[in-house]
Amino acid sequence: MLTEINQQDFEKELQSHENLVLDFYSTECPPCEALAPKFDSLAEFYGKDIRFVKMFRQGNRELAEKLGVKSSPTLIFYKNGKETGDRLIGGIKKGDIVKNLDSLLPAEQAEKIRSAIKPVVTHTEALVLGAGPGGMAAGIYLAQAKIDTLLVDQGLPGGQVTTTHQVSNYPGFVDPQKGYMLSHFMAEQAKAAGVKFKVAVDVNKVDLANKEVVVDGYETIKAKKIIISTGASPRYLNIPGEKEFYGKGISYCATCDAKYYHDKDVVIIGGGNTAVEESEFISKFASKITMIQQLPQLTANKTAQEKCFADPKINVLLEHEPRGFYKTDDDKMMVKVENLKTGETTDIVTDGVFVFVGMKPNTDFVNEPMDTDDWGYIKVDDEMRTSIPGVYAVGDVISKKYRQITTAVGDGTIASIACTREIEK
Ligand SMILES: Cc1cc2nc3c(=O)[nH]c(=O)nc-3n(C[C@H](O)[C@H](O)[C@H](O)COP(=O)(O)OP(=O)(O)OC[C@H]3O[C@@H](n4cnc5c(N)ncnc54)[C@H](O)[C@@H]3O)c2cc1C
Repeated sequence: MLTEINQQDFEKELQSHENLVLDFYSTECPPCEALAPKFDSLAEFYGKDIRFVKMFRQGNRELAEKLGVKSSPTLIFYKNGKETGDRLIGGIKKGDIVKNLDSLLPAEQAEKIRSAIKPVVTHTEALVLGAGPGGMAAGIYLAQAKIDTLLVDQGLPGGQVTTTHQVSNYPGFVDPQKGYMLSHFMAEQAKAAGVKFKVAVDVNKVDLANKEVVVDGYETIKAKKIIISTGASPRYLNIPGEKEFYGKGISYCATCDAKYYHDKDVVIIGGGNTAVEESEFISKFASKITMIQQLPQLTANKTAQEKCFADPKINVLLEHEPRGFYKTDDDKMMVKVENLKTGETTDIVTDGVFVFVGMKPNTDFVNEPMDTDDWGYIKVDDEMRTSIPGVYAVGDVISKKYRQITTAVGDGTIASIACTREIEK
């Protein structure tokens, strides 16, 4: 059903199949590994109506370049020899592939195929929800204790670490590590320990009381124990223009976007650790940074503050708060800012805005009563047990003072040892 082809075969394949989907993959590519089983299983169902082919990108560079393929994996869909639909890139979800495949077929045929996909039930001893450092540490300990362990993540392994440009405080490395490399090492270590991964999946339903998680719409995973390690996400300001210009001038990730502001003017919203530490990184690119902080002082650690105040590119506006984001006629960002002492508002025109105003726990999937603190972080006991029997929580998602990679890893260690003991009882 799924055929490996080379660039020489491509034109012939394209001419002889009305519908075709092409997967450009690479070796040593975690998102390619995550895609392979999904692509295989969809080929089984859609294979009669759509030709499924894959091509090794490094071995077929000429065609990859001609088609403008710049990352692996890339899925391209063709109808009657012409590219159609969206290209899917990186951590590709099954739901998105299905949408594109369905669009190649008449509606009734797509419906018929979808209804033939039978629900599957998978069993595991421990299900770890979230493959950030907390989840991966838990996975490593569980697998090394011979507990059958499945790590499920809606994205790719690594969590927030993948978007951290450099980590210099994780023990074991003399030199600062690039966040994505540290994530990669953790995931490889977990795999080597025997942890199974289901990543870039749609997590449709989480039933904590019954220890069941439904992924990709058709697979129910039943576990004896669940460890929640879903971490935290950036908090939004919820002011006019924020949603509208997200990704079009407003960013929440310096590692991802600072490089696009070479010699440009940038506004940073926030004055805590993340805002101030990230300003140091953004300053490597931007020519001017205005930092807007609502409090009368920055709240970052002293060392970071000293660096920030010593940087001639950074101008800090204390006791100011953003009130809205707008675009100028020449497509620049405009930030409406209120001086909290005088009530006066001014418009700052800039090339881009970075928002770092804290985090919120990723607990939207919790539908059952569970003890949390006033901010929604999950309360745990000293062995990381939540108020739901058999459910543990670790890392940034729990109620605690210090949220770091090392503390997430520590929580994961504790939960996995406690969990192993309970399973072995
Ligand atoms: C910009 C930045 C820089 C930082 N720098 C440092 C540093 O230098 N040193 C340091 O120690 N710490 C640093 N931190 C903090 C550190 O990254 C976090 O404390 C740590 O990653 C928390 O790990 P975690 O496993 O709890 O969660 P996360 O890293 O948040 O991972 C959670 C995972 O859960 C997944 N997930 C979320 N919801 C679901 C769901 N419903 N179903 C399935 N999966 C889900 C996510 O996709 C993610 O992969 C930084 C954080 C940021 C944002």
